[in-house]
Amino acid sequence: MQIDEYFDVVVVGAGPAGASASLFLSQNNVKHLLIDKETFPRDKICGDALSGKVFSHLKHVIPEIHHDFNLDNEHYTSSYGVRFVAPNGVNLDVPFSPGLTMADKSPGFISKRIYFDQYLFSKCKEHSSATIYENTLLQKIEKNDEGVYLTVIKNGEEKYIYTKLLISAEGERSPTARMVYDTVERDYNSFSAGIRAYYSGVTDFHQMNFIELHFIKDFLPGYFWIFPLPNGQANVGVGMLSKDVSEKKLNLKKLMEEIIQNHPEISKRFINAKLESKILGWGLPLGRNKKNISTDRIMLCGDAASLIDPFTGEGIGNAILSGRYAAQTAVLSLKHNNFSKTFLSQYDQIVYAKIGSELKLSSTLLSLCKYPMLFNFVVNKANKNKELSELISCMFADIGLRKKFSNPLFYLKILFS
Ligand SMILES: Cc1cc2nc3c(=O)[nH]c(=O)nc-3n(C[C@H](O)[C@H](O)[C@H](O)COP(=O)(O)OP(=O)(O)OC[C@H]3O[C@@H](n4cnc5c(N)ncnc54)[C@H](O)[C@@H]3O)c2cc1C
Repeated sequence: MQIDEYFDVVVVGAGPAGASASLFLSQNNVKHLLIDKETFPRDKICGDALSGKVFSHLKHVIPEIHHDFNLDNEHYTSSYGVRFVAPNGVNLDVPFSPGLTMADKSPGFISKRIYFDQYLFSKCKEHSSATIYENTLLQKIEKNDEGVYLTVIKNGEEKYIYTKLLISAEGERSPTARMVYDTVERDYNSFSAGIRAYYSGVTDFHQMNFIELHFIKDFLPGYFWIFPLPNGQANVGVGMLSKDVSEKKLNLKKLMEEIIQNHPEISKRFINAKLESKILGWGLPLGRNKKNISTDRIMLCGDAASLIDPFTGEGIGNAILSGRYAAQTAVLSLKHNNFSKTFLSQYDQIVYAKIGSELKLSSTLLSLCKYPMLFNFVVNKANKNKELSELISCMFADIGLRKKFSNPLFYLKILFS
């Protein structure tokens, strides 16, 4: 077999998962190749919201990240919380932690992915351990006892690369995931469809740039979002479980436009708004069912591993977390010269130990979204009860507290509170 180049580790995909894997490999001086089929900066269809989880992992490899984002108001908007709008139209404002003010360090940011991903990509380039090829498509993977052979198309030319270990971070349409998962069938109960557009001139944002999730009665169990961006722009979109989209034969683009034009409250905020982009859609592979995310010589990260939070649709934080632990496992794997499925299963174990229970819980919350009455009830109560609203705020950071949401006793207690 022809081999043009050899690397100990190859990372495919330079989105948040692959870039993070590369940064953590570089931190451990592991020589590796990072490839992406696109040339950066490149767009990615997304809501563009970056949660605290993003920063809690990246600060270990980019200590200056929070400072950089705070200084760059052109590309990053600081965000301090979430506004939930219940089906009855009542708002519930939930800061990311209780008592936050604009004087505090912002827990989250909103940034167009074209900028955020470029920032991470440029950080990967700073390390000599990383060889980086853009415009390089992974076309074919062959594996045997000695390693993984990759056929790539680099700037239009076919090349053959050999590696001991492949970290696959190609996103939702990962060709490698098929080699790891037991089935290639898509489970539409674990998959959401999302539509995103950029608008300027949307009015009436929360003064602390809360991201907004609107649960609209005729659009459940999906939601409509408005996230404030720099320069007077907003990321606007809708998301819904693919199973519901196909069963109800919905056209999400049309539905989003109808909400903007006709919804009694939302339409008022779009009177002078201007569409600044195409309306584009992409899939969200949700972490609803635990899967194998590694096999002999291969680890899957981010969307390739289906790690998106089923309730919030947040995937960037988990992509970064998985990239970090794939790199950590790669370091051990090289040290012990062991690339077996059994050895790499420690990667699955650490990822699911960190986020398994949170994914499970979010999956339950997603099922509860079908009940608008329940939603209205919690939001109405929380607006009248400071303790309950603070509890909900704490639930964002505390998984133990979040468990309360899926316990029927919780609703009984607030009924009588
Ligand atoms: C509409 C929508 C809204 C969302 N909103 C949010 C949000 O607000 N906040 C949030 O946290 N998450 C959100 N998500 C989820 C988030 O976008 C993903 O979870 C995240 O991008 C996953 O990162 P990744 O690195 O795994 O994959 P990606 O970001 O998709 O990166 C994959 C990379 O692999 C490259 N690639 C693909 N195939 C190949 C190949 N064969 N060869 C070489 N390179 C290849 C691609 O070019 C790409 O650069 C949203 C998703 C959608 C669809």
